[in-house]
Amino acid sequence: MYRAIQITKDADGYQARLTELADDQLPDPGAGDVTVDVAYSTLNFKDGLAITGQSPVVRKFPLTPGIDLAGTVRDSSHPDFQVGDAVVLNGWGVGESHSGGLAQRARLKGDWLVPLPAAFSPQQAMAIGTAGYTAMLCVLALERHGITPASGEVVVTGAAGGVGSVAVALLAKLGYTVAAVTGRPQEADYLKALGASTIIDRAELSAPGKPLAKERWAGAVDTVGSHVLANVCAAMKYRGVVAACGLAGGMDLPASVAPFILRGVTLAGIDSVMCPKAERLQAWQRLATDLAPEQLARIGSRVIPLADALSVAPQVLAGQVRGRVVVDVNA
Ligand code: NDP
Repeated sequence: MYRAIQITKDADGYQARLTELADDQLPDPGAGDVTVDVAYSTLNFKDGLAITGQSPVVRKFPLTPGIDLAGTVRDSSHPDFQVGDAVVLNGWGVGESHSGGLAQRARLKGDWLVPLPAAFSPQQAMAIGTAGYTAMLCVLALERHGITPASGEVVVTGAAGGVGSVAVALLAKLGYTVAAVTGRPQEADYLKALGASTIIDRAELSAPGKPLAKERWAGAVDTVGSHVLANVCAAMKYRGVVAACGLAGGMDLPASVAPFILRGVTLAGIDSVMCPKAERLQAWQRLATDLAPEQLARIGSRVIPLADALSVAPQVLAGQVRGRVVVDVNA
């Protein structure tokens, strides 16, 4: 038997509860060739949506939520993984259409798993979670498109959020000059401690803007979308690159093509969920070298027991939680 959060949808409605499951309730071996003893999971925004049912994130019932997990291989018929290996998983539809990390046990496809870098404990890996791994994917996209510290300043929007904080820390460690856009001026000292040189008030970028603005940034990591992303694109330097990963401010993009056709700006889309394995491996290896442990500690995380995931999920959705939430599934 193992403890798990389980979501059901039936005549009684949509419910998430803590329960005990038997091993034969794990996904079929055909749907997963590695069984993992989960140590830690996290509560991402998407997990909040799944637990509360506020958005139709869960596409199969019953299902255990949790898009991230870190743990140890318990059983494997996958050639790359042996019993006792430490692993980390992000995305691939886990926690949406395949049972996920908010449980003491998970059965997964070995092709989805990444070896846990020696630099991180399972708890640290979950403090990084999908947010930190997505920030690294954004940095890799800027690099792939030729943006270096010598290219000029890089702007990060939603900077005090999970993705934004890690992006600021990574870029600063790599030698970039970082401008941090935030709607929370009280987080200015925190963002400077992570390595931001300039703090920009979100209000400066959140109203409808011109198709082209004064050239300011060589690179951008945008977690916000909508007018903020449109204004960031409009203010990119010639041949600048914008890595767009989020929609915290809206799903729309009220922009013009001017930055793309007149300044050769590149808009690079970032998806963490189905990102190919080779890039995931690269992202986790780079996190191990480029995310300083003291910066990870500064970003901060709160550890909660599995049962509390149910009550903390609505707080995550309401933006009432600062830093990352790590779930100790064995507590
Ligand atoms: P957080 O909630 O931790 O941070 C979001 C930040 O966005 C907030 O801290 C705030 O930054 C800013 N923000 C919030 N509301 C608004 C608003 N109305 N207008 C402008 N800015 C706003 O989320 P994450 O960092 O975990 O995720 C950020 C985004 O990236 C989300 O939209 C998420 O869905 C998406 N995401 C996408 C992934 C992918 O694969 N593409 C993977 C992971 C996340 P501040 O306080 O500094 O103003």
